[in-house]
This record gives sequence, C-alpha cells and structure tokens, in this order.
Amino acid sequence: MEENKKVDKQIVVRFPPSPTGEWHFGNVRTFVFNYLFAKQNGGKIIMRFEDTDKARNKEGSEESQLAILAALGLDFDEGPYRQSERTHIYKEYLHKMVESGHAYEGEENADKTGKVIRIKNPNKEITWNDLIKGEITINTNTFKDDSGNTDFIIGRSIDDPLYHFTVVVDDMLMGMTHILRGEDHVTSTPRQILILEALGAQVPEYGHMPTILGENKKKLGKRNGALPVRTYLEMGYLPEALLNGISLLGWNPGTEQEIFSKEELIKTFTLDKVQTHSAVFSGDKLDYINKEHLKLLSDEDFIKGALQFFSAEEMEYINNNLEKNIKIILKVFRERISKYIEIVNFYREGEINMFFDVLYNIDLKAFDKSKITFKNKDKEQSLEEVREMLKQIKAKIENINKEDWSVENLKAQIWDWSADFGRGFVLHPLRTVMSLKEKSPDPFTIMEIIGKEESLRRFNIFI
Ligand code: GLU
Repeated sequence: MEENKKVDKQIVVRFPPSPTGEWHFGNVRTFVFNYLFAKQNGGKIIMRFEDTDKARNKEGSEESQLAILAALGLDFDEGPYRQSERTHIYKEYLHKMVESGHAYEGEENADKTGKVIRIKNPNKEITWNDLIKGEITINTNTFKDDSGNTDFIIGRSIDDPLYHFTVVVDDMLMGMTHILRGEDHVTSTPRQILILEALGAQVPEYGHMPTILGENKKKLGKRNGALPVRTYLEMGYLPEALLNGISLLGWNPGTEQEIFSKEELIKTFTLDKVQTHSAVFSGDKLDYINKEHLKLLSDEDFIKGALQFFSAEEMEYINNNLEKNIKIILKVFRERISKYIEIVNFYREGEINMFFDVLYNIDLKAFDKSKITFKNKDKEQSLEEVREMLKQIKAKIENINKEDWSVENLKAQIWDWSADFGRGFVLHPLRTVMSLKEKSPDPFTIMEIIGKEESLRRFNIFI
C-alpha cells in the first residue's frame, strides 16, 4: 500500500536590507520577526544585501549592519549574498521573460542605452491571504505609469534589470516560502506575484508588519529622532533586552508576560499575534525592559557589564579602589539605574565623592551649617542639639567592631532608638554628616561603604 505522506517544505525566509546606513529599530524588527518565525519552525533565514542602487549605498553599512546582528546574538543560515554580484543571473531571467513572451521591449530608455523592458500585465485582481493583515486584493490595472501604461517596467534595458525584478528572481532561486516585511511593501507584492507567475515560480506566503511610530505618532526613522541601535548598545542597554524590546514592537503574546529571553521568544512568537495597527516605540518601556533584564544578572555579570562603559582613564581610577567601587556600584547604583551609562554619569557628576575623603576636602568649606539641622512643623533643631545628637550616635556605634561594621548592625544601634526623638531629627543630621547633601543613598549604606574609621572621622569633624 502506498503511504499518503504530506511532506512539509522547510520554511525559508530572508532579510534583504539595502546597505544605506545604520540600522534603526525598524530594520532590526524585520530581521527579528523573520528570525523568530524561522527558528521556531526549524526553517532557515537567508541574508541578502540589496546593494544595486550605487548612489544610495553607504560605505561601511554592511559591516555596521552585520555587527548589530552579531551584538544582538542573531545569526543567519545562508549568505550574505550581494545582488551586485548576481547581475548575470538577473539578466538571464530577464532575457527568458522576453523570450517566453511575458515581457517585451518598449520605448527607448531615458539614458538612451537601450529599450525599456515592460512586463505584459494581464490586468487582473491579485489576492493573497496576508499572514498578518488577512486577505488583500489589489488589481494590477492600477499600476499605471505617466502615459497610462499598466505594463510596468522591469528592466532599464534587456541587460539592466530593475529592482522589482531582481528581488523576485532571488526570492524564487533562493526558495523563499515566506516573505515577511514592512507594510510599506504591500503594493510591491502584487507586482512581484505577477513576475513570479510569469516565471512559472511558486508564489510564497506574504506577511506585512505594522509600521513603527515614534512617541509623537509619526513614523519612526532618522528624520523622526530615531537613534541607531548601535547608540542603544553604547548607552548600556543589554543585547537581550533590546531583542526583547524590539520583539514587542507590533507583537505581544496576548498574556501579561513582557520579559522574554531569546529562547522564550522563539517558543512564544506567532505571526497571528502580530498586530495590524501601528506599533509605537517607547523609550520608557525600553528602559523598563532593560531594568528587568539587569535584575536577572548575577552581581558578577552586572559589574562586568558596567565596567565596560568607563573610559580607560576612569578605569584606572576605579581599579585603584576596586573593592570599594564594586560595593558602591552594587549597593548604591544598581537599583537606581535602567542602563549602564547612568552609572558612568553618576561617577562623572561626582555622585561618588561622598564615598571618599575627597568629599570633605572639597565641599566642607562652603558647607552651610544650618543645613544639618532638621525642622518639622512643631520643632526646629538647634546646632547645639545636633551636636548632642551626633555625640550620642557616635557613642552607640563606636563599640561595633570593624569586622561587624554593616548596614544591619548600624541600624540595630540607631533605628529603634531614633524613633524616640522622631526619626527625622536623627536621620537628617546623620545623612548630612555622611554626604553633605540633602539627598543621598541612605546613611547606613554610606557608613558601611566608607568604613568605621572614615565614618567616625566625619562625626568628629562635625562635633
Ligand atoms: N531592500 C528592501 C528594503 O530594504 C527590502 C524589501 C523586501 O523585503 O522585499 O526595504
């Protein structure tokens, strides 16, 4: 008995950027959706540079684009191909189109290098079931050029195939089963289907992804303030968080889950959950996603990541006091930041001075003593009262051994006891003594980091 087996074809998708500059989120999102779809289905993704428009090509784009993929941990199975290296193939198929009667030579082209090649347009309705947008029908009789001709041009001459044609030949020869791209290409689809039909090729499935808008609801792009993805990496967003954020531009799983690893994305992503209305990019959302991914890092990995963002000169300074700096970063800044560059900025803005004696050397002379006192609606502390208070605190903590000098033990001495006076009357002066600032990390943390000796020194200066 013959078995009736349905053999599913392997899924093949492609990513065909033009090397015209650095990538923004939109470009990467197209790669990511293709990638997730292919990986999930055991398919393959082909990389192809559409570099035939020499005037628009920008030096270094290929390298920068490939570097972004590598930085985000994204790979491809085949390529990168370059259309500029495949012109002979397109020419061959253009000749075939004319020989088979599906295309013909028209009028002389503008550069007078030959006659344009026009496809014979059957002027018919083309319908496809878009994997994202649902059924779409476009009549090819709408493809009129200036002279009203619907036989659109596929070659500048018989030896000079145009973009619409080269894409289709590549998609055919590379065995594309699915074409997933931005919705700005919807109107290209029926043209390309016509050419595929003329070539006798299998028509792949199409899915058109929603446009990404900026926070001002205008299309996200260079002209609308979009920064290259490289800049986000340089600001210290984690690659896995960028991948997560990019995946949510127009897709969500329909559950509460927002934080995904790459593996989870591959498992969860489906085209039917890609939305049809525009996606909106939000910097705050990306910060939130990055913060959540930072939380997943071990202390060791967090530090390793953070230290990469300091300059060599700054690293020299950090290495001089590495243990203390690690403590500062982990205990003080880790919770406060959503991307690594913020830590570097804290350093550059002198937010760490309070952890080193330089604080007292620099800032004390200009210090306004009245800032150390605390007032609430019933009472205003005098400097004399503050001095008394500081003496009492100092007496309480002086007995803690150096080895036991920790937030917990310091708090154990001060926290409950301070309630008798009203916490503000104790904690405000304490904070000021430790930081010379009205806002700072909590004074117990500062004391733990600067150590017993320096803490007591600060008490003595004020007393
Ligand atoms: N090279 C085209 C672009 O960058 C790709 C269009 C397509 O996906 O067919 O927009």
